[in-house]
Amino acid sequence: MKKYRLIKVRNPRLKYIRYNLRRFLLYLSGEKMREIMDAIDEVLADKSLTKEERDERYWQLHEELDEISDLSKKAPLYCDGCGSSNFDMIYDVGMETWTCEYCYQEFREFERKRGKDYRKMYPDYERI
Ligand SMILES: [Zn+2]
Repeated sequence: MKKYRLIKVRNPRLKYIRYNLRRFLLYLSGEKMREIMDAIDEVLADKSLTKEERDERYWQLHEELDEISDLSKKAPLYCDGCGSSNFDMIYDVGMETWTCEYCYQEFREFERKRGKDYRKMYPDYERI
């Protein structure tokens, strides 16, 4: 089983660079997704295509869209809980997403209050 780790950056300059890099990568993935969605609109409006050609192209573009969406979720670009790109992140092995330390503690506390086995869902993590 993979260990849960909080990747802690203490240097303010590195934090600043990390934040800007995350936002830039999110911007690029957003631009690419918009480009693909425009291409989907064009395919749907293209009357020269047969239904089979349109369907094939449509699902091909959708797969590309899903791929980019998955990539941006799997990279530590933003917290899956609060959406922030500013914080140190913990990889949630179960959900396959990244969560900031604050949200991780909130999720953990929420599950504890519900009487769930929160230590199994949100185990202790090591700081590196
Ligand atoms: Zn968060």
